[in-house]
Amino acid sequence: MKQRLAALLLSFILFGGYADAGGPLRVTGPAATNPGQAFVWNASAPIRYTVDGGPLSVNPSGQVVVSNSDGAVRVQSMFENWQSVSTTSITYSYAGPISAPGLPSNGDVKTMQDFNAVLGVCNSGSQNPIIFDADGSLLRALGIDPLVIGFSGTCKLDPLAGRIVSALVFLNGQFQDGVNNPSISNYELNADQFDEAITHEMGHFSGLGHSQINVDLFQGGFNANCAVDALAGLPLMFPVEFCQSRKSAGLPILAPDDVAWISKLYPNASYSSSYGSISGFVFFSDGITHVQGLNVIARRVDDPSTPQDESKRIAVSVVSGFAFTGNPGQTITGDNSTGSAFGSRNPALIGYYEIPVTPGTYTVQTENLHVAFVGGSSVGPLDPPAITYGAYEYWHQYESAFDDPSKKDLLTVQAGQKLSNINFVLNQTSPRFDQFEDGAVLLEIPQVPFIFRASRDPWLGEKQS
Ligand SMILES: [Zn+2]
Repeated sequence: MKQRLAALLLSFILFGGYADAGGPLRVTGPAATNPGQAFVWNASAPIRYTVDGGPLSVNPSGQVVVSNSDGAVRVQSMFENWQSVSTTSITYSYAGPISAPGLPSNGDVKTMQDFNAVLGVCNSGSQNPIIFDADGSLLRALGIDPLVIGFSGTCKLDPLAGRIVSALVFLNGQFQDGVNNPSISNYELNADQFDEAITHEMGHFSGLGHSQINVDLFQGGFNANCAVDALAGLPLMFPVEFCQSRKSAGLPILAPDDVAWISKLYPNASYSSSYGSISGFVFFSDGITHVQGLNVIARRVDDPSTPQDESKRIAVSVVSGFAFTGNPGQTITGDNSTGSAFGSRNPALIGYYEIPVTPGTYTVQTENLHVAFVGGSSVGPLDPPAITYGAYEYWHQYESAFDDPSKKDLLTVQAGQKLSNINFVLNQTSPRFDQFEDGAVLLEIPQVPFIFRASRDPWLGEKQS
């Protein structure tokens, strides 16, 4: 039974593949006209979505807790979080209830048979369904961890044009059923937390990957009360859900990183007069070899005249080498000769980063991605993430392998300005592993304790090669 379902999931994500994230979710590969570009929807018209005809949530006795019409209103408002960004052109519109051959005429998706029918119309590219799993039973039937609040999946891509053709979002209504019983994995989220988790899924639906900023907050527990300045800068596209809702803290639903990246992927006419960029490369200590898979964050310098800490609030990130493939393939073993279908093979993009920022003065820093961010929680092209000592470093004007990594120089960016060659040289990294060298330096993997909590994404993690 499980195996059959697993096969179904794989067939579903066959086209989708995986997170090339830290900015875009997927980047075009060798088959594309323009490799190294984010996969995006054609945003010249609204993205039309269809909605499940059943309730969003029912309690264990089957009574409706969140009705279909209330669920549909919430879905619309979640999409509006993205489309109301002033510098983006992306829009979404409701296209009626889900309809598929074999599905009940009211569009209520309840069984695996229903799900497969919906998958069919999504895979064919004709619908972008929003599925309500009112009691979590469909999620369990799919073999997915009941701690998954929701997930998104890309059904069809156009790998030549770099377009997302169709996708779906799945909402686990059990998190809204009024029952909080952690001993049976039946957690309850308040409506704002739930909607923020689903808005995260809509970010993936739109082509965004995960982002890591203010990762130190991640040490807190589920439902932890997080410091507001750090929460303000914590991307909604952070891989896992924790902290109080952004709304309850008086914050906009999207963090500056989310706003910057949806605008970068779908810029409208005001984008170029609202954003500049900071770009460059990350190098190992040799100053020559590019480092793939480190997180790079641009943080606004704190304005001492305000009570807020802008350095925590206004931050935008990307992963070094985000446009390069996470798996170039190799011809030796014969089972991975072509590598991943995603990501450019242009070596000039290895270790390259580019961060869209609003005008202001910034510091730029590199850091490791959290070791827990693997599979469905991965950030950037490498899964598992790169482990490089000496990765924690601020950029300053005289970068070298022997500098003080805490020394930082400030960068002022104007609208429309592109600051390039802001390059890092890491300190004390292992010697490079040269071609034809035998016996690489074995890097010790640090043991970082973490609490795994309600994940936003289940099989967004299935690694495709
Ligand atoms: Zn996610």
